[in-house]
Amino acid sequence: MEFKTNAIMLRAIDYKENDKILTLFTPTRGKVVTGIRGVKKPKAKLAFCAQPFAFCEYVLAEKNGRYTVTSAYLHDGFYGLRTDITRYYAACAALEICNALLMEEESAEGTFISCVETLKALSMTDDDCAEILLTFSLRALFEAGYPVNLDGCGICGSGVSETPYFDFELGTFTCSNCMQGERASRSTYELLRKCEGLEYDENKCLDGTKRALRLIKVYLSEKTEEDYPCFGEFLRLYE
Ligand SMILES: [Zn+2]
Repeated sequence: MEFKTNAIMLRAIDYKENDKILTLFTPTRGKVVTGIRGVKKPKAKLAFCAQPFAFCEYVLAEKNGRYTVTSAYLHDGFYGLRTDITRYYAACAALEICNALLMEEESAEGTFISCVETLKALSMTDDDCAEILLTFSLRALFEAGYPVNLDGCGICGSGVSETPYFDFELGTFTCSNCMQGERASRSTYELLRKCEGLEYDENKCLDGTKRALRLIKVYLSEKTEEDYPCFGEFLRLYE
């Protein structure tokens, strides 16, 4: 049986002499693991679809519950990412997040669309790459059932103060009266509101970017028990 699907190539592992095992991100079935034959040979026709970030329509043949790529049509390779190491790592971090949060056989259309938009924005615009990655992280966390509450204190409902806290368990900021969680900064809160498309205080989100990245990275690790090496590398590179 064959099935045709759009997908983003998340991860490729070498297998045997010339083959690879790919983890694809599909909108309707979440992660799909598939083999691809002969793709390491010098003249392999399908080499393009085993590259990181490849956004293709894949045709997969199924036999005994295993998939093999039989053909692919490239929508976009996001080659612009290869010219800027910082943006490249931001894109790798986005794929890393997908790989950690997605399940097999579970549709994830919202995250899929958002992931394609994120790769486009990182490769084709000059928009701030940290904000692009944060916007995507918030969306993917929300879709996976780990939303970050950015609507004031998650305990008492009042606005967050100048020195808020963040409760990693609940995924919410808390105010200086409730003081639940770990110390966070107002700039982190404001910057995340900006990335979420909410009203924010421009003057108070200065210097919030790296803090917000750190907070989201820790939150991701706590929810998924995964390390995020590319996210870490991006944090190191981003100025
Ligand atoms: Zn409170």
